[in-house]
Amino acid sequence: MGATVAFLGLGKMGLAMAKNLAAAGYSMRVWNRTRGKGAEIQGALELPTAGEAAQGAEFVVTMLADDAAVESVVLGKDGALQSMREAAVHIGCSTISVALAHRLAEQHAARGRRYVSAPVFGRPDAAAQRQLYVVPGGDRDTVERCRPLFLALGQAGTALPLPEHANLVKLIGNFFIASMIEMMGEGLALAEKGGLDPAVVMDIINATRISSPILKGYGAQVASTRFEPAGFALPLGLKDVGLALEAGRGLQVPLPLASLLRDHFLASLAKGRAGWDWSGIAAIARESAGLSPRRTSA
Ligand code: NAP
Repeated sequence: MGATVAFLGLGKMGLAMAKNLAAAGYSMRVWNRTRGKGAEIQGALELPTAGEAAQGAEFVVTMLADDAAVESVVLGKDGALQSMREAAVHIGCSTISVALAHRLAEQHAARGRRYVSAPVFGRPDAAAQRQLYVVPGGDRDTVERCRPLFLALGQAGTALPLPEHANLVKLIGNFFIASMIEMMGEGLALAEKGGLDPAVVMDIINATRISSPILKGYGAQVASTRFEPAGFALPLGLKDVGLALEAGRGLQVPLPLASLLRDHFLASLAKGRAGWDWSGIAAIARESAGLSPRRTSA
């Protein structure tokens, strides 16, 4: 058996990641707010509280929805930090605020525990295929201790010295993706009203140097207007764009494009689209152009 990993948060991403760690030989202690998901992970022991799951583990991985979830699961009553053993490492994979990552690093250090930020790029299908890209931030030796675990999830870059810098990179990356979704929503509304098939337009664009994995993957979704089921849910997209704006406010960096994206996420939620994938903000551009939110064939 490999080292013991406590895995907290078995949502769409967390479940796939925990399964890969189990398959790589780690001994898994798991916890999720809604119980029962641990049964899907080969050989995992499901515990009733995050604190109990963290007991004795060498690594504690969190993959939770947002700041509030991470705060309560790690710092709250029966939380993970109070029961982490000495020298244990908390690997924070959730997409959280720069401010919370900084605070987590401080609070772990104050208790003689270690904290590494390790936000990931890649959707649940990439997680299932061990194709996540991990962005590690924290003390270099501690990150190196975590590297075998990162390799069981996909690949990982060089350590950024500060944990919160890894979170900032993740927020910038998601801001880029959301901007590209918006761009494709607007451009493909133009294509459709001009009498073109959006899928054909994406094929042409993707045959040129404009192409990228995002334009290919999300381009197909935006072109087909297939926004369900959600791989990355629309409310989480709003969260991330809000966190980018919050970071911008703290550093006095205006992000006018992020402000527009936030409003399009809000408009989507106001229209009852919380269950859609975040690529569904493209429907707002369609509606502004007088098109139906989804093509009838979608
Ligand atoms: P998800 O399927 O909605 O899972 C969210 C997880 O957080 C579930 O385990 C949920 O527990 C738990 N949770 C939510 N609120 C909680 C609370 N207040 N207390 C305790 N647990 C709580 O989301 P996901 O797509 O896996 O995303 C997880 C994280 O990864 C997010 O930070 C997201 O931004 C990030 N991320 C997602 C993707 C993606 O494509 N999906 C890609 C990269 C990064 P329950 O099961 O009880 O609801």
